[in-house]
Amino acid sequence: MEIPRLPLSCSPKVKQVLDCALLAPVKTERQIWENSMLEDDPNANCSVVPEKKESGPRWGPEHRGAQELANLYSRGKRIQECICVAVCLTLMAVNSVFILAHIKIEKLSSIVAAAFFGILTADFCSGFVHWAADTWGSVELPIIGKNFLRPFREHHIDPTSITRHDFIETNGDNFMVTIPFLGRMVWDFLTLPEDDVQKKFAWNCYVFLLAIFVAMTNQIHKWSHTYFSLPLWVVFLQDWHIILPRRHHRIHHVAPHETYFCITTGWLNWPMEKLRFWSALEYLIELTTGYKPRADDLKWAEKRN
Ligand SMILES: [Zn+2]
Ligand SMILES: [Zn+2]
Repeated sequence: MEIPRLPLSCSPKVKQVLDCALLAPVKTERQIWENSMLEDDPNANCSVVPEKKESGPRWGPEHRGAQELANLYSRGKRIQECICVAVCLTLMAVNSVFILAHIKIEKLSSIVAAAFFGILTADFCSGFVHWAADTWGSVELPIIGKNFLRPFREHHIDPTSITRHDFIETNGDNFMVTIPFLGRMVWDFLTLPEDDVQKKFAWNCYVFLLAIFVAMTNQIHKWSHTYFSLPLWVVFLQDWHIILPRRHHRIHHVAPHETYFCITTGWLNWPMEKLRFWSALEYLIELTTGYKPRADDLKWAEKRN
């Protein structure tokens, strides 16, 4: 008896749709080459497109907008970052001890699943906050402008400046975000009876991994811009896409910086781009408020001389 064979290729129309919608690269090699800074080449740290005589470099530490933004980093901001790093590290250490003291091996599978979803949620949160800060608001806004939006603007015009920031400047803001959640966890462990601690254990593992990956996001992001002297274990994690790989994050840095916002693991970047998640959100916000996405980002990119 002859076994019916499945067609090996789909119809040309379906194939064309698949090619266009799914298989096409998000940014081509040419777009990356022409519209992002060549961070892996220390001799070409500005722009490959010939510049007009009267305009300065498109990217890098010589960009006038980048210099202006770097100078807005204040002493008060530095103090806030130091306090946040110290408090967050203390809360992480205390929660680790509580988790180890209450862990039950028979619940390992639900703990692993909770931890995995914690990491996934961290990737989504990194994308959402990064998208919101890149796309809306302005450095002129009171309090949040200079303190929290400024680094996002600086990062697009001088992407390797992050590699020159120390641990505190790189991680202070992300550590700050996790403090209320880690504080609540410590409170739960201190005040709840053992039965309730066990009932909430998987949830707390979810929150703990979420907090650790949120806190680590900008460090992982910094590594994704570091093309020289990275520790081998970091390169291993990048190569296996356990954390954000360097080539993957280059796609976000192609002007006008409108996609691939997730910077923890980057696992959600491709599906969210194919779902048009960010562009649909921007369309709805522009329709309802009239605000243009990335208007402030573009303004800073143009301050070239
Ligand atoms: Zn960005
Ligand atoms: Zn970046």
